[in-house]
Amino acid sequence: MADIIQLLPDHVANQIAAGEVVQRPASVVKELMENAIDAEATLVKLIIKEAGKTLIQVVDNGVGMSETDARLSFERHATSKIRQAEDLFSLNTKGFRGEALASIAAIAHVEMTTRPENRDVATQIKIEGSKVNSQEIVAAPKGTAIAVKNLFYNIPARRNFLKSNQVELRHIIDEFQRVALAHPNIAFNMYHNGAELFNLPVSNHRQRIVGIFGPKTNEKLVPVDEETDLVTITGFVGKPDFAKKSRGEQFFFVNDRFIKSPYLNHAINNAFDGLLKDKVHPSYFLYLSVNPKSIDINIHPTKTEIKFDDEHALYAILRSAVKHSLGQFNVAPVLDFDR
Ligand code: ADP
Ligand code: MG
Repeated sequence: MADIIQLLPDHVANQIAAGEVVQRPASVVKELMENAIDAEATLVKLIIKEAGKTLIQVVDNGVGMSETDARLSFERHATSKIRQAEDLFSLNTKGFRGEALASIAAIAHVEMTTRPENRDVATQIKIEGSKVNSQEIVAAPKGTAIAVKNLFYNIPARRNFLKSNQVELRHIIDEFQRVALAHPNIAFNMYHNGAELFNLPVSNHRQRIVGIFGPKTNEKLVPVDEETDLVTITGFVGKPDFAKKSRGEQFFFVNDRFIKSPYLNHAINNAFDGLLKDKVHPSYFLYLSVNPKSIDINIHPTKTEIKFDDEHALYAILRSAVKHSLGQFNVAPVLDFDR
């Protein structure tokens, strides 16, 4: 039999990888904002047009890139964040897979302008379907600006699969809020079709929550503070009248990364036992800090699911910390007059 196996060309491999990393405009928003944070930006601006279908732009004032790095950043498995597999267990960056920019450049029109502090001029690169169309020297402020246009222009099936602007914008806002809540020490702005949706100055966790969810939120936050060998927990749970019928404001952050955990969510529900009416969900903003060695983030491309070494102990600590706070702050059950 003749040999039939071939290596896929890079642009095809990139397009396939992009399917995992980029589900919708909100995925691009997440990856670009996380890159800005990893670049130590203190101000991150997100500019969106038509719910990200025509433009997603992130402008940061971070460390920027050299000319060579700017070019290399769009290659697959190109990363400055890890060098060897062991580094995965001492991560303090959001990224490490070196796949985001390569994936995005495979399925959109991308323009990046970047300048490190120690250079007077910036590099501007234009890429389309993994192909570099131009590279120029331009004038630009320190930091990086990336514009992603016409997402999925070369994959009509994916483009047609996108939901209404209203739905896609909701997903983008969700990602924006998750990143902004994780990093109150960074200022964020967001604009959609020219209108400013968020203007969040540098603040603390409480002020950031209030900045996003409104001034009325302030009096509804009950602080949670717990420190054990395994985990440090800070943040807030919402008083029972801040609970929501639709799954409301529920945020877990582990080492400043937003994560989803039905298991830990159950611990909170359990701590609220008897305090909430039927069918409402508690609100919470909880920041867990653990030894990076005790978690595995590399189990899903979007990194929103992680594996804890000692999940059961974490559950118990979380539940008791929340229960303690609710008791200490005299949170009484909501009276249910309908019954
Ligand atoms: P990862 O974040 O997993 O390393 P990416 O594809 O997202 O992979 O980015 C590749 C590399 O490009 C990063 O490791 C980083 O060195 C560089 N980079 C990307 N975005 C920025 C940015 N906004 N500022 C500075 N460097 C960046
Ligand atoms: Mg990245």
